[in-house]
Amino acid sequence: MLVNAKDMLAKAREGKYAVGHFNINNLEWTKAILLTAQECKSPVILGVSEGAGKYMTGYKTVVGMVNGMIEELGITVPVALHLDHGSYEGCMKCIEAGFSSIMFDGSHYSIEENVAKTQELVKICAEKGMSLEAEVGAIGGEEDGVVGKGEFADPNECKMIADLGVDMLAAGIGNIHGKYPANWPGLSFETLAAIQEKTGTMPLVLHGGTGIPEEMIKKAISLGVAKINVNTECQLAFAAATREYIEAGKDQSGKGYDPRKLLAPGFEGIKATVKAKMELFGSIGKAE
Ligand SMILES: [Zn+2]
Repeated sequence: MLVNAKDMLAKAREGKYAVGHFNINNLEWTKAILLTAQECKSPVILGVSEGAGKYMTGYKTVVGMVNGMIEELGITVPVALHLDHGSYEGCMKCIEAGFSSIMFDGSHYSIEENVAKTQELVKICAEKGMSLEAEVGAIGGEEDGVVGKGEFADPNECKMIADLGVDMLAAGIGNIHGKYPANWPGLSFETLAAIQEKTGTMPLVLHGGTGIPEEMIKKAISLGVAKINVNTECQLAFAAATREYIEAGKDQSGKGYDPRKLLAPGFEGIKATVKAKMELFGSIGKAE
């Protein structure tokens, strides 16, 4: 059964580890992540972007697939199904479809409008027993003419959004979605500490987890980050393993063209990536 992310994140915040949010794209992704979480006795958050939701034909399909797998694979660790970077309309659709958690990304709105829309969703999520992640808009990004520093949130705005009663907060601390440029100066722990000071025990969310050095991840967790989003890394692992299979000509030998064989190395690639992240985040064994 799906659960919201409140409990698992409160425990992570308290225990100084982080729960991995892994984006799903299809059956292989979902199965690989759920099985790895179960093997590692780790809580897990399955993230679904609006684009991936559309790709999988809609949120109801996603809910049906995830609920079915939890039951038929015998998954007993806590699993949250979470909308990633949702629009207001997307949030409404996922609430109706049976997600257990949503992210409302109002970061492109003015802080006033972000507050108003987040407030409405706080109310609905409380009624439905769902968890809600909010995002505070970026400041800077290209400050002082330096490109590639990443985005930074204003700690005071973080407090405004945190005080609305959201369950987790995404705030820019110099992190970047996708690839990090060579001149990236790293995460701003000064900003993170300032945000933590203003938001108390609020679990903080680190987006753009691919490519951040391990030491920085560990330090971010020690400063209140309790959820880390991983997407690109699983995609790269899947693509590399699939490429290797094809380049070795395995699809042309025997029944190597069978999708269940063709997609197997990529599936194992995702599993290995998820396990390595769970180790790094410290969530292994936390669901026992
Ligand atoms: Zn993100």
